[in-house]
Amino acid sequence: MTELFRAEGLTRVYTDGRRRVDALTDVALTVDTGQRLGIVGESGSGKSTLVRLLAALDRPTAGRVWFQGTEVTGRPERELGFLRAAVQLVFQDPWSSLTPRMRVGDIIPEPLRSRLVRRQLPADVDHRARLAEVMADVDLPLEYADRFPHEFSGGQRQRIAIARALAPRPEVLIADEPVSALDVSVRAQVMNLLNDLVASHGLTLIVVSHDLMVVRHLCDRIAVMQAGRIVEQGPAEQVYEAPRTDYTRTLLAAVPRFSA
Ligand code: ADP
Ligand code: MG
Repeated sequence: MTELFRAEGLTRVYTDGRRRVDALTDVALTVDTGQRLGIVGESGSGKSTLVRLLAALDRPTAGRVWFQGTEVTGRPERELGFLRAAVQLVFQDPWSSLTPRMRVGDIIPEPLRSRLVRRQLPADVDHRARLAEVMADVDLPLEYADRFPHEFSGGQRQRIAIARALAPRPEVLIADEPVSALDVSVRAQVMNLLNDLVASHGLTLIVVSHDLMVVRHLCDRIAVMQAGRIVEQGPAEQVYEAPRTDYTRTLLAAVPRFSA
């Protein structure tokens, strides 16, 4: 397996007025091609901060990040095209992540219009064809392309966000709490969709969730975070069957199916 992400000594301190928040402290992590990594931990443990740093949406206070062997840390945005095309994100809230006044048919190809991303793609990418492809990928009829986000349910909106993420044919999908804002009744559908897409497109997946059921469904590797540090990581089965820390045991016990 080839190494996709490497992080060393990753640290992020926020200074919020007089308050200092150690959001992430000395995190080391590697993610290999084809892995499905779940990042779990209670709210405020630094999960979103970690994936934002991996995706170079934020800069670390200390430490370094590499993507496909190239150091990302400290590089200006104009040199990050290789990462912007290959790594796409899906966020928690499908209400705020879609521009309300844009039609779905314009929202989905958005990443293809970014100048940085465009330079990484073949010059002849047909936006309409790609739109049709990724809408089919997420099981949305092409007629919906003319509609606006408010005309859709939460689950459908998250499908739109996933279609947008797939538009540039990324290698990695990072999903930060992708089903937490959805009705319980549609969570399984969206998780199954993600599962199928990761398999059929051969994607590498990084999923953040405070809910271990989500991660159990989607991931083959788990990193457990507490107070800005990774306190345990390993193959999913190992973490589930033989957790090494009391903190992980507590997280697992909070999920009915895990409590023995
Ligand atoms: P999680 O995703 O696990 O809930 P976060 O990475 O969002 O955790 O946050 C980790 C810590 O950093 C929390 O204490 C949070 O309040 C703080 N934090 C996150 N973003 C900011 C920010 N932009 N400014 C100040 N503090 C922040
Ligand atoms: Mg978060």
